[in-house]
Amino acid sequence: MNKLESSPLVHFESRDRRLPEWFRLGFSFGTDGPDPLPPQIILAVEKSALVHFMEDIERNTLVKYAGEHLTHRNASAEFLTDIREPWGFGGILKPYAPAEPNDFLHFAINIPRVEKEAGFCRDCEGTGKDQITGQGTCHRCNGSKKETKQDQSELNMISATLCAIHPLLERPYEVWLRDVKDVGRPQLLSLITSFGPQCPFIAVVFSPEVVGFLARNAGRTLPQIESAMWKTYIQMVPGYERYGPYGFEASVDREGCPSFSVSRDALMSVSGFRQPSSRDRMKFDSTEVMSYHQQVSLLAGIAMLCDMVKTTR
Ligand SMILES: [Zn+2]
Repeated sequence: MNKLESSPLVHFESRDRRLPEWFRLGFSFGTDGPDPLPPQIILAVEKSALVHFMEDIERNTLVKYAGEHLTHRNASAEFLTDIREPWGFGGILKPYAPAEPNDFLHFAINIPRVEKEAGFCRDCEGTGKDQITGQGTCHRCNGSKKETKQDQSELNMISATLCAIHPLLERPYEVWLRDVKDVGRPQLLSLITSFGPQCPFIAVVFSPEVVGFLARNAGRTLPQIESAMWKTYIQMVPGYERYGPYGFEASVDREGCPSFSVSRDALMSVSGFRQPSSRDRMKFDSTEVMSYHQQVSLLAGIAMLCDMVKTTR
């Protein structure tokens, strides 16, 4: 019998005991200056868990599924599997050495530019002025004088990679986690994201540690999370910056239930029944996500939340 067939799955959402951390998320706003970095979502995975997961990658049907959908979206890419190098579709998970080395392997997902410049605006021919009156702002380029085009290939590769590796992030086989040492840090969440013909979605289950953090922040807004989602979105679509960060919101209600929104219409909220006073796990689910821009921006907010929980525990 194959080792996977005999291995139970880890059901994070229904475990009553705490699980030692096998992966975590983080967020970086990036840097300016001579060596600029874009905003980044950080994925850190316990080394043995990632090695075991990769040993079974040939049996992971999601790699083929996501790869086919990438081709369908004109973004064909190979799923690279050498974790010492950039890996995932198109190598979007880039290894880096953290400041304090530990048993985790760290990978950065650089948030890509999706909206790219493509020469002068066709309407105003680069004047930035309204074509008919010669005054006021050109409606096509909004005065930027530039034509833009959308290149979603890298964004697609990010969503495809997250979908292909979600068995490790959401419901891993116990054999993948058998060598993870308990060093006193609990797993904070499980994560599932989609990539395919259906509307994108993202859902997480929070551990009691995150639920406790949210309870301590009941009734508050979470500006760091709003900022992470906004910076991620305008990194992808710089032209959106002129509309301002309205609708990029993150807050916790008086019951301790969080709510995130991106560009008004994509939302994440608590789903299912939960007793407000309990310190159980909490499912946080998306609705009305229309694009991978929104999916990845919501993920940036989740990653920032993980950073905030870690710094306060
Ligand atoms: Zn123009």
